[in-house]
Amino acid sequence: MSSEHHESLGADMGSEEFRAALQRVGEWVAAYRERVGGMPVLSRVRPGEVGAGIPDAAPREGEPVEAWLADLDRLVVPGLTHWNHPGFMAYFGISGSGPGILGELVAAAFNVNGMLWKTSPALTEVEQAVLRWLASALGLPSDWFAMIADTASTSTLVALAAAREAAGVAVRERGLAGSRPLVMYCSEEAHSSVDKAGIVLGVGLENVRRIPSDSDFRMRVDLLDAAIRDDLAVGRMPFAVVATVGTTSATAVDPVPAIADACRRHGLWLHVDAAYAGSAAIAPEFRWLLEGCERADSLVTNPHKWLFTPIDCSVLYTRRPEVFRAALSLVPEYLRTDVGEVVDLMDYSFQLGRRFRALKLWWVFRHFGVDGIAERIREHCRLARTLAEWIDAEPGMERLAPVTTSVVCFRLRPHGVDDEGELERANRAALDAVNASGEVFLSHTKLKGRFCLRAAIGNLQTGETQVRRAFELTRGAAGAGLV
Ligand code: PLP
Repeated sequence: MSSEHHESLGADMGSEEFRAALQRVGEWVAAYRERVGGMPVLSRVRPGEVGAGIPDAAPREGEPVEAWLADLDRLVVPGLTHWNHPGFMAYFGISGSGPGILGELVAAAFNVNGMLWKTSPALTEVEQAVLRWLASALGLPSDWFAMIADTASTSTLVALAAAREAAGVAVRERGLAGSRPLVMYCSEEAHSSVDKAGIVLGVGLENVRRIPSDSDFRMRVDLLDAAIRDDLAVGRMPFAVVATVGTTSATAVDPVPAIADACRRHGLWLHVDAAYAGSAAIAPEFRWLLEGCERADSLVTNPHKWLFTPIDCSVLYTRRPEVFRAALSLVPEYLRTDVGEVVDLMDYSFQLGRRFRALKLWWVFRHFGVDGIAERIREHCRLARTLAEWIDAEPGMERLAPVTTSVVCFRLRPHGVDDEGELERANRAALDAVNASGEVFLSHTKLKGRFCLRAAIGNLQTGETQVRRAFELTRGAAGAGLV
């Protein structure tokens, strides 16, 4: 292609065409948000169905935006489980809010990489400033260092890499060969991302001690202490404890102040996983959730879970950034800069490149305001308590965990049925029936071995109507799996 020809074609989409496409896609997105509540929340496609609708080869010639959008309607939307649906109450309810979606769009337009301060000063400085806003809104120390990662799994992995460094293992230079076996601790209710960090960091699953929880699913600190002592007695090397504020199954809150005491006694790193429930501390009546967390070495919370920020956006706080640097900073010649005292975010993690994720969080704060966010979180918690009241008043149902924030764990318990196997079959069948309705989507878990349904209220569109439907559909499915 001659350079003249290239210029006349335009290397990228032309300006006028882009404007028109932006408008068209913008309208499509706005319409999707309006109609999503009328679609089945859980996708009904069969495995392979979406892929089969896509041609084997990319088009030789470009196609117009209308054709791309037609495929969204024809192929993609039916293959979506709609996390932005008002009836979505599975796993953790999340929201791709209006301001968050707009922030994503602008971040893509900038397409900057914030590996170094110099590679986009605004990315680093907006990120640092917005994370100070978040710390202040949550009541966390204002002088903590913070950075954004994709997920809590990454944040926890990086935090535990720092913890390993703090323990004095020369893993950076020599690897793990010859070191005493490293051991870390979390409750039996901790998220699987802690185990995965154990796998990646060479700790090994056998050395991720899962400490039993009490009747409310909170870590037993007496057993934590005993486990640490046992490991020390046989020459192992305890190095970190992960406390969870808002466990995945029941949003239980581990006793962080007592865990911090144990960490101090034994000189261990305390990492707090507040991926979901941390956001609730924005509402003053939920500040207690983060009690003792100011004593943590690191803490993760995910705005993409309950802070109305589109996935992905996970925030890692630490009061010991120098340990992260010691663990992970590595500056090859081609990344050296001479701009003086600045934060180069690549120095604090294993990832080099990073997106401008702070922008969407910034706009979430600017649209809703701290009080507006607190009000919405408060409402989600009120809805959860209301659902719990309906369940408690219903003879054929029971709740299996306290409601700390916006998650309710419950099951059908038909009169006279005590056999756990039979209850599990009945509740699995009821869950399938509820989800087949397309109106709501609930997920499940097991608590102390007992199967239960989980309703997690966290989407901005979810109101009492959907919560009531979830209750009624479950009640109506009673007997579905009973023989
Ligand atoms: N921690 C807790 C308590 C969670 O519930 C989850 C996911 O639900 C995670 C960590 C992992 O989150 P991510 O998907 O951001 O890695």
